Amino acid sequence: MLQKVEGIVLRTSPYGESNKIVTIFSRELGKRAAMARGAKKPTSRLASISQPFTYGYFLIQQGKGMGTLQQGEIIDSMRSIREDIFTTAYASFIMELVDKLIDDEAPKPQLFEILQQALHAISEEYDPEAISLFVEWKLLPTAGIYPTLHQCTNCGATDGEFAFSFSQIGFLCHRCFSIDPYIIRLSPSQVKLIRTFYTVPIDQVGKLTLKKETKGFIKKIVRTIYSEQVGIRLKSQHFLDQMEKTPEFFTPKKEKPSPEEE
Ligand SMILES: [Zn+2]
Repeated sequence: MLQKVEGIVLRTSPYGESNKIVTIFSRELGKRAAMARGAKKPTSRLASISQPFTYGYFLIQQGKGMGTLQQGEIIDSMRSIREDIFTTAYASFIMELVDKLIDDEAPKPQLFEILQQALHAISEEYDPEAISLFVEWKLLPTAGIYPTLHQCTNCGATDGEFAFSFSQIGFLCHRCFSIDPYIIRLSPSQVKLIRTFYTVPIDQVGKLTLKKETKGFIKKIVRTIYSEQVGIRLKSQHFLDQMEKTPEFFTPKKEKPSPEEE
């Protein structure tokens, strides 16, 4: 059976002399691996469609076992992401996260939408660090985590000071701080920002300008949830951490002015 899907290349791995196994996350079918014969040869008609991050239409011949990629049509090659080490690192991190969170072949149209929008935003030069943070918060429900961020997890209060509790997976108000000795106190702007990341559409996140420390702080919270509660630690995270710690060792495409807090 021949199937045409709209998809994004999550990852590829070489197979033999000239072939690639391409893992595609598609709107219609979810995650599928397909053999792209000859795709390692630059002259192959499958060479460009089987690059990581590529967004396009894919024609897959499904048989018993793994399908075969017959042809593809590029909607967006995401070349600008691949040409920059920073955007490549963040996009790779997002791809690995999505890949890790999907363990079946069921369609996940909402997740597809988030991934497609995130890649598009990065290719449009929105802050890739903020976009990857957005994806991390947004995908928590896919990982089975539903943080309570609109009220206190314990008493339901919506007013007062708030802290983040890993044991409650959500906010605690100051009246309930004592039920978790390991709370992380939050400023009102941090509370607002975490809610923003979890609830608003991506185009609004792209417009935020955030300080490095602010991003670092809410990143620590979400990464702790992934490592402690979900049990995920990504390979690409190590590289990303290195890059963020010592950006001068990497050559950015261009200098961006340091943004001010909203
Ligand atoms: Zn409370």
